Amino acid sequence: MKIHIDIDCFFVSAARIIDPSLHNKPVAIGGRSDTKIFDKDALHQSINMQNSGSFVPTFYKTYESKDDDIDAFRDKEGRITGILTTSSYEARAYGIKTAMNITEALKLCPHLIIKAPNMSLYQDLSYKLHHFLSLKVPLIEQASIDEFYGDLSGWVEESDIEYFIDKLRHEIKKELNLPVSIGAAPTRYLAKMATSGAKPFGCKTLYAYNVNEFIDPLPVGSFVGIGKSMRQKLQDAQIHTLGELKKRRGTLESWGPYAKELYKRVTGESDAPIQTTRQRKSIGISRTIEPIFERKELRRRICILARHLSFALLKLDVIPTVFHLAIHYEMNQKSHKNLSLCEVFTEKKFNALCLQLFNEADTQRRLKVIRLSIHCSSFTRDSKKELSLIGFEEEQKMKQLTQNTQKLREKYGIDSLKWGSELS
Ligand SMILES: [Mg+2]
Repeated sequence: MKIHIDIDCFFVSAARIIDPSLHNKPVAIGGRSDTKIFDKDALHQSINMQNSGSFVPTFYKTYESKDDDIDAFRDKEGRITGILTTSSYEARAYGIKTAMNITEALKLCPHLIIKAPNMSLYQDLSYKLHHFLSLKVPLIEQASIDEFYGDLSGWVEESDIEYFIDKLRHEIKKELNLPVSIGAAPTRYLAKMATSGAKPFGCKTLYAYNVNEFIDPLPVGSFVGIGKSMRQKLQDAQIHTLGELKKRRGTLESWGPYAKELYKRVTGESDAPIQTTRQRKSIGISRTIEPIFERKELRRRICILARHLSFALLKLDVIPTVFHLAIHYEMNQKSHKNLSLCEVFTEKKFNALCLQLFNEADTQRRLKVIRLSIHCSSFTRDSKKELSLIGFEEEQKMKQLTQNTQKLREKYGIDSLKWGSELS
């Protein structure tokens, strides 16, 4: 049997460890982006590289306690801005949801307590839980900052599973003061579904005999891997529940390999092993910003994001070969651009590449921009073979410069060297 462990409303639960008076109250965590990196006088920014899982946001600032209230979400005009990332079950009872606008949430629940995020605390707790679980379950895989998979096969008898996971849930509460929910099932995908049925602070075990009864009535969107476009496709084919999906093998198979695999995951025919170590596959940086129309200012911000990302890439010692830049405009418009490139990584080239991607992706020039993100993936550690020989010496020189810059930044901070284009 596989198990899936998920911390209940993680960011709120973490806030409650620091401030126990938040228990049994409607609490939410605001999803403020750290936009301080764009300040022209930004100094002493830090990057946390502690956890190298691909799911953990690498870039954040530690917030001081004075920021830890609703005032932190007011803009210069005193308006409350931002969205919520997590809400307590008490808040959800008022209809408050993840990604809800703070203004809207306060209308639904005027006494909602809003806290600023504290990424260092989350990483610390996540690390501790991972460590604790590794002592209890031989095979543990971290899937996100607050989610883990484990394999109990050969470790716990099937008849003891319910007892084992229930004990584990209480041990975690006692040791780390974190409420978790745990699901157990024959495959990891079904275990994750079981967890959703166990929340909050519960356990659920799915066996071959009761799995259909539980899975079949659930909406297709509740299954991991079924996103917006797949949901639409299924809806168009009159498939609304997982039970309906299971009856349409032929339809799903005709949609190609992804849908075919998805079908098998839903029916429990397909599973993936629990991987205890996970290589980082990508890294990115993104920021939600106040709506900006000025392209010059946006380009300046791209340079800053590129500098931070470049620092992290060099620190990880990887050479990305796929670059992705996305722009979110107001009125829910989006645009993005990809580029593959196998060359020596230098910060200057990366900066130019990001600006080029931005210019190409910026197709809605009459609109203001509200979010910028850059992602790098398909890492190679040694791409010498693939490198272009033209301009190789020049590249080596640039690489040396990049390495020197990196050394200085590691010593004096990421803001110790900036690009001229950022300061104008
Ligand atoms: Mg969770």
